[in-house]
Amino acid sequence: MKIIHISAECYPIAKVGGLADVVGALPKYQNRGEITSQVIMPFYNNRYTQEHRFKSIYKGTLNLGTESFKFKILILENENLGFELYLVDIPELLFTDYVYSENDTKRFISFQIAALDWILQNKQLPDIIHCHDHHTGLISFLMSHANKYKKLKDTPSVFTIHNAQYQGWFSHDNIELIPSFPLSHIGLLDWDNNINPLATAIKCSWRVTTVSPSYMEELKVKANGLESLINSETQKCVGILNGIDTKVWDPELDDMIEAKYGFEDCDSGKHVSKIWLCEEFGLNSEKPLFVFIGRLVEEKGADLFYEVFDKALKNLDISILLLGSGNKMVEQQMKKLTSKYPKMYNAFIGYDEALSHKMYAGADYLLMPSRVEPCGLNQMYSLRYGTIPIVNKIGGLKDTVVDISEGGFGFLHTENTVKGIFNSIKRATQFYSDSSKIKETRKTIMQIDHSWDESAQQYINLYKSLNQYS
Ligand code: ADP
Repeated sequence: MKIIHISAECYPIAKVGGLADVVGALPKYQNRGEITSQVIMPFYNNRYTQEHRFKSIYKGTLNLGTESFKFKILILENENLGFELYLVDIPELLFTDYVYSENDTKRFISFQIAALDWILQNKQLPDIIHCHDHHTGLISFLMSHANKYKKLKDTPSVFTIHNAQYQGWFSHDNIELIPSFPLSHIGLLDWDNNINPLATAIKCSWRVTTVSPSYMEELKVKANGLESLINSETQKCVGILNGIDTKVWDPELDDMIEAKYGFEDCDSGKHVSKIWLCEEFGLNSEKPLFVFIGRLVEEKGADLFYEVFDKALKNLDISILLLGSGNKMVEQQMKKLTSKYPKMYNAFIGYDEALSHKMYAGADYLLMPSRVEPCGLNQMYSLRYGTIPIVNKIGGLKDTVVDISEGGFGFLHTENTVKGIFNSIKRATQFYSDSSKIKETRKTIMQIDHSWDESAQQYINLYKSLNQYS
């Protein structure tokens, strides 16, 4: 069975967030026995593509309205990612030093057309096309209704919603960018008088998945305007919890951290990374270290950070270290706190993969007061590295963290306010004074299995159930 994943991100080639981690791992875990799982993504101009060699295997031309663009399909040379990777190279539109920008309509429509053009001319058509997020949301529509892709009409399509906040909508004025189709189907593209790729994917894909069971339930009442659509399509929707790539995220093998460790020697191992972090960022290593890693956006609760951190640093004997970027006002606030609380607080504004690994390893607690968290990977990475998560009880966080008061291993709050988050930090600070409980909890959480094996199999079962009808 041949599966093709189509995505705007894939680790390690281009990563903005969790989407890349999932698309870089899931195919690896699916590629067993009779399953061949491949990935198609755009060819961006970034460090990874500059430092690796690629070979062109196909050349084509695509039309976007009245314009036409030459494109190539590239493959990676001399590197085994655990799956076959194909990159769509459209120099004028996709070869940028960013993944996303303010106006991506043309960029991602061209990506979807090139990917389908290439799939279509291959001798062996895929058995399943699995698309991820709104950047690939038009594909199931094009496969079912565009005149030029008729050959793909009976190929089952699966669409995964990693984040329903972003829907990629654009005006009907751009309709000419979409390859021709019988106009009677225009309603499938529309939601609230715009063309909405996420809504289109939900309508047209054979199956729709979300990245955790709880997020699937939440979307029925909170989906950034798509609630009624989710409810009407619910019979084809299912929540499958993401896994983590335990080959990349393994403190016993991780070259990015200061000292490798397993659950037996986690205290000493974590201590080495904590000392490194505290020296690097001028913090006191005697105190419990709380970290945040992620995008500084409202979804992650970042607009509350200034007040929460200020209150926590004023009232509790702790250190806080933040790694992230996003909203400019929040970035300013996060920098401002460094002068207010020297030796207690610091922030690295930017993106740094290696630093994130060191923080998962060296921290005592990971903060994740997200308002929206479809799955969340950070809490699973932190568990794997023996760092206790402090989370808001929603989405995937609810599915993966159990409160310490219920015999679990983390701190959850249901009121995601300054007060609610502060109370969780306070409880965690009190918990820190009992070193034997901390040690025991670290050992327990490091042994929780969140590897992809189980979830990858759930996807395969889903593909097989569809394939019998194609
Ligand atoms: P989202 O996809 O909503 O951003 P996830 O929890 O699903 O959130 O995934 C976030 C991923 O991005 C994790 O691998 C996290 O470590 C990484 N990440 C986020 N921000 C940064 C940053 N500034 N530097 C390094 N890694 C980051």
